[in-house]
Amino acid sequence: MKMSKSMISTLREVPADAVIASHQNMLRSGMIRKLGNGMYAYLPFGLQAFRKVENIIREEMNAIGSLEIKPSVVVPGELWKESGRWETMGNSMLRPKNRLGQDLVVSPTAEEAVTALVREDLSSYKQLPINVYQINTKFRDEIRPRYGVMRGREFTMKDAYSFHATKEGLDETYLDFEKAYFRIFKRLGLTVIPVRADSGAMGGSGSEEFMVESPVGDDTLIICPDCDYAANTEKASCATDYFLDESCAKTATTLQPQEVATPNVFSIDDMVSFFNMSNKNFIKALVYVAYNSSLDLTKAPGCEKLEREGSSTEKTYPVSYFTVLIRADIEVNEAKLAAILKASDVELANDEDIQRISGAPHGFVGPIGLNTCPIIADYSVMQQQENGTYSINMHDAIAGAGKEGYHVKHVEPGRDFTPWATADLRTVIAGDKCPQCGGTFYSKKGNELGHIFKLGYKYTESMNVTFLDETGKNKTPIMGCYGIGVDRALASIIEEHHDENGIIWPMSVAPYQVSLIPIKYTGEMQEICDKLAAEMQKVGIEFLLDDRNERPGVKFKDCDLLGIPIRIVIGAKNLPNVELKQRANNETELIPVTDVTQKTLQIIQDAISNLNS
Ligand code: ATP
Ligand code: MG
Repeated sequence: MKMSKSMISTLREVPADAVIASHQNMLRSGMIRKLGNGMYAYLPFGLQAFRKVENIIREEMNAIGSLEIKPSVVVPGELWKESGRWETMGNSMLRPKNRLGQDLVVSPTAEEAVTALVREDLSSYKQLPINVYQINTKFRDEIRPRYGVMRGREFTMKDAYSFHATKEGLDETYLDFEKAYFRIFKRLGLTVIPVRADSGAMGGSGSEEFMVESPVGDDTLIICPDCDYAANTEKASCATDYFLDESCAKTATTLQPQEVATPNVFSIDDMVSFFNMSNKNFIKALVYVAYNSSLDLTKAPGCEKLEREGSSTEKTYPVSYFTVLIRADIEVNEAKLAAILKASDVELANDEDIQRISGAPHGFVGPIGLNTCPIIADYSVMQQQENGTYSINMHDAIAGAGKEGYHVKHVEPGRDFTPWATADLRTVIAGDKCPQCGGTFYSKKGNELGHIFKLGYKYTESMNVTFLDETGKNKTPIMGCYGIGVDRALASIIEEHHDENGIIWPMSVAPYQVSLIPIKYTGEMQEICDKLAAEMQKVGIEFLLDDRNERPGVKFKDCDLLGIPIRIVIGAKNLPNVELKQRANNETELIPVTDVTQKTLQIIQDAISNLNS
């Protein structure tokens, strides 16, 4: 490809909204241009790299026997009504109507479409497992599209779906995908951090996310340096730490609870100075409101009059209240709380509701005698054992008295109050200890690049997919799904492989492997350049020939920016040698023109086999 005909136009300046290296470099190198918020066009140079990423993913999917399909991107809204997600997907799903006024969906993901496809043809267990994938356009009306194609509204996803007669079958395929994902990321030159959803628990995992580190990542990862524990902060747990402080009682007190007037004590800091004790002695009581909890609250304190709403299969409490107890030096993780409460959302109750539910204003809410809503105690306070007893992790504590202006001393959890439930609700942070090995956590920001997930029967049940098993009985298949963002993978490669001058492509995804740069594209230099181009063409080397009438400095700068792995400069001064320079390590050598094609081929093959190994 000749540069003069390549439609590559590099930019010296980038728009102010491009703040991360991949977004800047993709714009500067002319890979992409913005069409609208979260909507990008790939130009030829960018598409070349995009296709290579896509193909590596495709090869590895084919290698594990997944079969490629291509469903339509716009699908009937009916399918989403069947699964129930028409109601739950919210505004991120784009729902146009056709000329007949029928509801349509621009696929944000394709569980419904693929489940409907499989339902059509599946009749016998002999057809299972079914394992299919697509590499196709998705649309999500993200609230804040940002960082270029890293979080776009329209993007391309590889999404695979598998259907099985048995759980064991699903487990097997899930492992195939896990291995394929590691191979894909290796071949793309990407370092990923695998994060298991149920990390901590031993045994099989139901879901795993593959994260890439990024200073602007949307996720916070909690990582153990000493073992394989890595978890998203939304799910991370840590070893219980108790009696951390000199001032913490190590055994149960025999003293009875005693009210103390604390008229001017409102915050934890106020308590620390008033009681002259560390915050690890205080139980913080927080009233939360939960939306759409699907817990069974019929026997929970204060919930007797709550009414459930919804369909016969899915009944939830639109609004319910809970008091969470947690040691005062740590924070409640609302994602964990929502998961425990099986709620769509949770938030701190407003002042009026706190007073109404707990009988005291915020800061004075207390566990003793509180029977107007269920109490959920974090493990930092106490933990219920399998036999129903509690292990108490705070003794002789101080808590709110449940009336304005008072706190209580000598509170013994388990003696003075009994929670409705205990749970792991804390926000785990760097410095906390690993539950597997006791190592000290550190944290990193990251982005999710891929996800493998055992879906279970969610879609096959709601959408009525059945097959006949060996004994002629009707059964529902179990399902898994497996995604990778193609654009996000491409952007992540640039995040990991760039310097101040531009992109440094891994050989496997470089839009072109070689840049041929004549100092001037005239006379002997032109002749040799064309001859090398013809040779390279023959052996299948992908090259760019910079035939532009530009100063050498400009050509070199563009070559660095474009990130072409091998640069070959043809200058009259060096002939019959040419200069070969590698972008990744800056190694420069002079090589006879006669040898350069062979040498180049060798470098390319070595680099690719290194990435494939
Ligand atoms: P995120 O938490 O980043 O929004 P997600 O949990 O919504 O991701 P999935 O629904 O699991 O993602 O989609 C699978 C993959 O699709 C993700 O791992 C990611 O690589 C990619 N992806 C998701 N949303 C976007 C987006 N807005 N732009 C680009 N890629 C995306
Ligand atoms: Mg998302």
